[in-house]
Order: sequence, then C-alpha cells, then structure tokens
Amino acid sequence: MAETDERTLFQKIHDGEIPAEMLHRDDRAFAIRDINPQAPTHFLVIPVRPLARLEEAEEADADLLGHLLLVARKVAGELGLDKGFRVVINNGREAGETVPHLHVHVLGGRPMTWPPG
Ligand code: AMP
Repeated sequence: MAETDERTLFQKIHDGEIPAEMLHRDDRAFAIRDINPQAPTHFLVIPVRPLARLEEAEEADADLLGHLLLVARKVAGELGLDKGFRVVINNGREAGETVPHLHVHVLGGRPMTWPPG
C-alpha cells in the first residue's frame, strides 16, 4: 500500500514540488506570492517547520514568530509597500484558515478598510 504523504501544501512548495514565486528563503522561513491575491500585492510568510496555526505556538516559538514578522517587513519593503501594508493571520475555521500550516498574510498596494470582513 502506498504511504500517505502527510506534508502540508506549503512544505511541498518549500521543497519545490509545487511551483510558487519565492520571495524570500532562509533556514527558518520563506515567503511566496499568494496564488489568489486579495490586493495588488499579497504574499505569505511561512515557517519552514509546519506549525499548524498560531494557537499551537509555544513560548519556545517566540523567536520564530518574531522572525516571521521581520521577514514580512523586509519583503514588504522590497516590494515597495511604502504607503502601508496589512498583516493577517487566520487562526481556525471561523477566521478563514484553509491551510493548516501557519502563514502570515501581507497585503498592500491599495487602501484597506476596517473592520475586515
Ligand atoms: P488561509 O485561508 O489563511 O489558510 O490562507 C491560505 C492562503 O494560501 C490563501 O490565501 C490561498 O490563496 C493561498 N494558497 C493556496 N494554495 C496556494 C499555492 N499553491 N501557492 C500560493 N498560495 C496558495
């Protein structure tokens, strides 16, 4: 019987098995353009380790979580989001989480409304 592949979609992208536009890559995190952009610029910052969602992060993950935000800021700068950008994490079904591998959305390039939908 074939073994099931339990890797997440984002692990497959990280490993190059599913194509994506890679905007950043280091030993702890990578950033890709979102395939279904909700703003003129929309990318995802993703930890290499497949932490499922923010809710599952622990105190020991504090450095990693900070790193994700610093990568978000760096890539936003590289993409010219100098008028502002929004950072979103969807945690759980009701928040709109569809991929169970933590990812930070970064959106910019248009004015944003508040509250979000
Ligand atoms: P969420 O709904 O917060 O879990 O976000 C998942 C995000 O992953 C969505 O914005 C999707 O558009 C995005 N996404 C799904 N598949 C891909 C893919 N193959 N490449 C890039 N982004 C993807």
